[in-house]
Amino acid sequence: MTLHRRTFILGGLAAAGGVAIASPAAGAATPFPFKLGVTSGDPAPDSVVLWTRLAPSPLNADGQGGMPNADVAVDWQVSTSETFGTLVASGTVTAHYAEAHSVHVVAGGLNPDAEYYYRFRAQGFLSPVGRTRTTPAVTTASSFTMAFASCAHYETGYYTAYRGIANDRPDVVLHLGDYIYEGAARTGQVRAHLGAECVSLADYRRRYAQYKSDPDLQAAHAAAPWIVVPDDHEVENNYATNTRADSSPALTSAQWVARRTAAYQAYYENMPLRPASKPSGNSIPLYRRVRWGSLATFHMMDTRQFRDDQACGDGWKVCSDADSTTRTITGTAEEAWLLDGLGQHLGNWDFIGQQVFFARQFDSTGAANMDAWDGYRQSRARIQQGWRDRSVRNPVVLSGDVHRAWANELKADYSTSTSAVIGTELVCTSITSDGDGNGSTTIPNVATNPHLKFYQDRRGYTLASVTPSQVKADFRSVAKVSEHGGAITTAKSFVILDGKPGLQTA
Ligand code: FE
Ligand code: CA
Repeated sequence: MTLHRRTFILGGLAAAGGVAIASPAAGAATPFPFKLGVTSGDPAPDSVVLWTRLAPSPLNADGQGGMPNADVAVDWQVSTSETFGTLVASGTVTAHYAEAHSVHVVAGGLNPDAEYYYRFRAQGFLSPVGRTRTTPAVTTASSFTMAFASCAHYETGYYTAYRGIANDRPDVVLHLGDYIYEGAARTGQVRAHLGAECVSLADYRRRYAQYKSDPDLQAAHAAAPWIVVPDDHEVENNYATNTRADSSPALTSAQWVARRTAAYQAYYENMPLRPASKPSGNSIPLYRRVRWGSLATFHMMDTRQFRDDQACGDGWKVCSDADSTTRTITGTAEEAWLLDGLGQHLGNWDFIGQQVFFARQFDSTGAANMDAWDGYRQSRARIQQGWRDRSVRNPVVLSGDVHRAWANELKADYSTSTSAVIGTELVCTSITSDGDGNGSTTIPNVATNPHLKFYQDRRGYTLASVTPSQVKADFRSVAKVSEHGGAITTAKSFVILDGKPGLQTA
C-alpha cells in the first residue's frame, strides 16, 4: 500500500466515491499549495496533531512560500480508510499569515490504538494523504515499532534513509534533532542550501521549506506520527542556552535573542507539535512525555535550551570543570521532571529521547566531547542514580548528534569495567550528515570504554520493535547518500531483554 506522493485533486475525489469537502474556490486558479507535504505528531490515545503549511512557491526568499498577506481557511478530514469513504473527524482551521500559513490541528475523539488517514483542503486543492495512529489506552500493552533519526544535512546527501523509514511503516517516528542545518551553501556538496546562514525568521522559514520540498522526507512524514525535539542546528551550531559557540555572523546580544526567537518560531511552525509547545518569546516548551499504553513511555528531552555553557571552551578536551557538581545539561526543572516521570513507572520501557551522546567516551588521553553528556558528568550521574533509586526497570536512552551508529551499555561507574550495567543507549546515525561514510565498524576508544559495543560509519536510522519481553533494534544503513536510491541494509541488530539492561546479540 503506497500512500506517499499521492495527490488528490478535487473532482478525482468524487469519482473515487469519497466524501467531498465543501466546494472548491471559484476557478481554483491558484497554484497547488501543499508542496511541503503533510505530517502528524505527538499521538495520544484519543487524539493526534495534524500538520501542513501552505506554500505554492516554497523557496521564495521572504519565507512566505508565495502566500498572500491574508489568513486562509483549511479544511481537514480524518478517516479509517485511505479513500475517505467515512469520516470520523473533520473541521476547518485558519492558516495564519503570521504563522507562515502552517496549521496544527488537534484531531480529537479518536479511538485508542487505531490507524487513521488524514488530508487537508485549501484553495480548491486536496493535500496528499497521510497515515497516522493513536497510542493505546494506558492500560494496554500493545507491541509497536518505532524509527528514530537525526541530523539531515541537506547538502551532504539524498534522503534515502527517510524513504527507508517510510517503507518500513513504523508506528511512530522520533526525530532527535538537527532536522535542518542553519549554514550557508558550501561548495562541492551533493546539494546546495539556498540563502546565507539563517538569522531571520524569513531565512529559517525558507530553510525548512527547502528541506520539506524533498519527496523522501515528505514520504517519511506521511507514513507515521512523529515525535520531535530539536538540537543545536535548528538555531546555530553548539549554542548553549543564551551563549553562542561562535561569533559568525556578528550579532549584538539583542540580535542573537531575536535570532533564537525566530528559529524557535520557525521550528514550531514546521513541526507537528501540540499547541502546548508553542514558543513564547525566545523560549519554547519542548520537554514532554508521550505514553505508549502500559508498554512504553517516551520522555522527550531538551538538552540545549537550559544547559550550562560547554566546559573548557567546548571541543574534545581533558577538562576537570566537566566534573563540577553544579553543571547541568537539563537545568534543574527538567531534571526533576525527568526523574519524577521515571519514578512513576508509567510503562515497562522508559525511553529517554534526547539529543547528544550519553555514555562516557574518553579517549586514551582522557579527553572527551564537551558538547555531549561527558561535558556534564554530574548531570549524567544524577540521572543515572535517580533511575536506580527509583528502581526503573528498563531505562533506554535514545540519542543522535554524532553522525554514526553506536550501541552502548550504561554503567554505574564508567571507570570500573566490572561495574554493573544499569541501562542501555542506542545512538542512531545521521540521515545524511557527513556524507557516505567509510563503513568502519571499529569502535573508537573502546580500550578505555569497554561499555561501547557497536559502531558504524554509515548514514541511516534505527528501527526498533518493542514488545513486553524485549526491544529489538535494527541499525539500518544506507550504502551511499551521494547518489539517489542507495541500498538499505541492516548492519547490526541487538536485543534488550526485559529486566536485563544492556545489549544481547540478536
Ligand atoms: Fe548533526
Ligand atoms: Ca547536533
